[in-house]
Amino acid sequence: MRILISTDLEGVSGVCVWEQTREPTGAMYQEARRLLMADAAAVVKGCREAAADADIVVCDGHGGGFNFVPELMAPGARYLTGRARPAFSRREDLYPGFDAAILLGFHAMAGTPNAFLAHTQSSLGGNRYWYNEVESGEIVQSALVFGHFGIPVIMVSGDDATARETRRFLGDVVTVSVKEALGEQFGFLLAPQEAHARLRAGAARAVHCLPERRPFSLELPIRGRLRFPDKSRADAFRPRRSNRVDDYTFEAVFERALDIYEF
Ligand SMILES: [Zn+2]
Repeated sequence: MRILISTDLEGVSGVCVWEQTREPTGAMYQEARRLLMADAAAVVKGCREAAADADIVVCDGHGGGFNFVPELMAPGARYLTGRARPAFSRREDLYPGFDAAILLGFHAMAGTPNAFLAHTQSSLGGNRYWYNEVESGEIVQSALVFGHFGIPVIMVSGDDATARETRRFLGDVVTVSVKEALGEQFGFLLAPQEAHARLRAGAARAVHCLPERRPFSLELPIRGRLRFPDKSRADAFRPRRSNRVDDYTFEAVFERALDIYEF
């Protein structure tokens, strides 16, 4: 069995303020990297408990940078990281052959109330995305691209709002909540041991339940809409395949789920 763990930073246990996710040279960001590694280690252990001989790849997905800390990598997985990450289309080279995907440290879509660090793609830009007329965040975007390759998402971790968004779109895949927001940067955190125990148990359960999971898909072609929060950001956007329909909004038709980022 081959399992791909796709990581983000905003939904990691202990991460609750933007400064932990935006300033790579800052002390708080460095701490967030260590928190990410601890969450990843818990998930790797859980996967191995359920599938001792699994090939596990942990993918560094936050921002454009190098978020992993080598000395904190749990044994039993390979870690894909570095700088100057190739463009999204390189997923065609990486994803085929995996049996399951886990979204670790994810977050709710832009505009979600009571959600830690909610955004879609750009936490500073305020972009919002719709597919087939339904506003969607990074959970759906990732699930769609994995689905293109026939790979089911078997688990999503993040805050309570992340778990709710996952259940709304992906049904009853395993969700692991490691925190509960009362505002964008304020709320309840768990002790690390408690968060890691939940992640480890959730990952083992998710691998166990893999036979029940199906790849996520939408009816093709997918009608996509990208809306910027202000006209100047829309003016600065260079569309690849979309048409501008008003001051803020671009629309495109995607023949493949793989292309949903390619506005
Ligand atoms: Zn992120």
